[in-house]
Amino acid sequence: MSTAMWKLEKDLCRCCHAEGSFKNLSEPCFQLGQEEIYSDMLQECLDIVPMTGTLGDVTFTICESCVARLRDAANFKKAGAGLRGEVQGYVLK
Ligand SMILES: [Zn+2]
Repeated sequence: MSTAMWKLEKDLCRCCHAEGSFKNLSEPCFQLGQEEIYSDMLQECLDIVPMTGTLGDVTFTICESCVARLRDAANFKKAGAGLRGEVQGYVLK
């Protein structure tokens, strides 16, 4: 009797579920001299915590287009947080 298990041949992007060869979420990448750790960025921006176990292993990657979107989101969030501080500064004056 066959006990073959469903197995992915390739990586699965954690965000868009595309298949391919992608970047590991916990591996630091350098972009314009800035260190980026995608699992941290996902958690910070979207409250997404990478899964654990076998499913976590195959989905612990992110594709290029999602990296770009995640980077945008992180920058947007940072800008928004900075702006909020400024607005509070105006209000308190
Ligand atoms: Zn993706």
